[in-house]
Amino acid sequence: MNQYLNKALEEIEKKNAGEPEFLQAVREVFCTVEKLVDKNPQFEKLALLERVAEPERIVTFRVPWVNDEGQVIVNRGYRVQFNSVIGPYKGGLRFHPSVNQSIIKFLGFEQIFKNALTGLPIGGAKGGSDFDPKGKSDNEIMRFCQSFMTELYRHIGADVDVPAGDIGVGGREIGYLFGQYKRIKNAYEGGVLTGKGISYGGSLARTEATGYGLTFFMREMLKANGHDLSGKTVTISGSGNVAIYAAEKITSYGAKVVAMSDSNGCIYDKNGIDLNAVKQIKEVKRGRIKEYLDIHPDAEYTERTSEDSPIWSIKTDIALPCATQNEVTLNSAKKLVENGVLAVGEGANMPCCQEATDYFLENKVFLAPAKAANAGGVATSAIEMSQNSMRFYYTFEEVEAKLDRIMTNIFKACKENADKYGCPGNYVAGANLAAFQKIADGMIAQGIV
Ligand code: NDP
Repeated sequence: MNQYLNKALEEIEKKNAGEPEFLQAVREVFCTVEKLVDKNPQFEKLALLERVAEPERIVTFRVPWVNDEGQVIVNRGYRVQFNSVIGPYKGGLRFHPSVNQSIIKFLGFEQIFKNALTGLPIGGAKGGSDFDPKGKSDNEIMRFCQSFMTELYRHIGADVDVPAGDIGVGGREIGYLFGQYKRIKNAYEGGVLTGKGISYGGSLARTEATGYGLTFFMREMLKANGHDLSGKTVTISGSGNVAIYAAEKITSYGAKVVAMSDSNGCIYDKNGIDLNAVKQIKEVKRGRIKEYLDIHPDAEYTERTSEDSPIWSIKTDIALPCATQNEVTLNSAKKLVENGVLAVGEGANMPCCQEATDYFLENKVFLAPAKAANAGGVATSAIEMSQNSMRFYYTFEEVEAKLDRIMTNIFKACKENADKYGCPGNYVAGANLAAFQKIADGMIAQGIV
């Protein structure tokens, strides 16, 4: 490995020991941009790698709130403002009990490169809390969101840092967060959050954007390799925002989704998943995926009993991991390859562990990397910001057409860079190289800050 890269990585590993997800994300990027580092010896003097891997700012804070029984609960809030070279910090908020600094830093780091790939002026950030929204009443969710925003508001702004949703944060939570921000600031700053409701400044097609965008990327990747979506069997992990809308769009191209999941287990329906039933269970009732069998008793349900999700043992042409990080283990990757998988599209952030990624690439599986393939959500958030600035709105079709163009261009950039640096078909490397070049150019131009 390049000597400077090796030295920088060692130093970063030492400094961030105890943050495995963050280090995994850094290693993946650094190990794929070696040729770019070789070509640019000035990076070392400028400590470019060290600076890219050091957040500009991290804020952690106490979030006290009162549950329905009158008990005070204390959670921890985070905001990692990672890199503002290309635009105001931008990235979602995650509410999940597993949230810690390592996870928020890995997500923030990934977000820098993802946002650069969109071609839009947005920097990288991420935030969230170890709060668990599962089983909480609407009032508890509201009180938590209000307490969270009562601290977060001082760190964000339409030209400073613009949060959005992620796991556990959807339209309901963004509404409560925005209401509290507006109340504290006594100003209607619509562009401070994205993913807002359509009646108060949200963008049409934002809800659908990540899943739709993933499908557009997959369509382009297959096309470039002489395949298409029509008639393909698809399995999708998760049954949240990304999973549901990936299922909706990919079905419209003639593919058949046969399995979906949640953290408890997965459903298999050989006739094709009834997406309206899934939406009813997940978006309206906020229930569990196994309730699908109440509506379709012929479908099968398999409980998850180990770290290998049962969904990856199902034979499929296309696998779309859309739940969480490291959900595709090496074992799962081997199962998928053994069953003849053609392509894998990462809807979640870093859903394949490094060994799984390497295994897919070695076995010539077309792999759509998260930074590129799930960038449609943040790209549409940037379109929401521009509509808020213009005090205007685009139709659903206009936003979808822009999203399609952005995803097509992202695929093109991944392919061109993979070809240019001598790793054709490796879109993981292609995405990292394209994004890194852009970030490095901006950081060099803006001096030592
Ligand atoms: P949601 O909260 O809407 O859905 C998450 C889904 O993943 C649920 O089905 C959930 O199951 C499952 N899940 C969550 N954590 C785990 C876990 N530890 N193990 C197994 N399953 C789990 O989130 P999103 O759909 O918004 O996000 C999914 C992924 O996509 C995340 O990685 C996120 O970072 C990424 N992403 C999201 C974007 C967006 O616009 N929303 C944009 C880009 C990336 P359960 O209900 O049982 O918890």
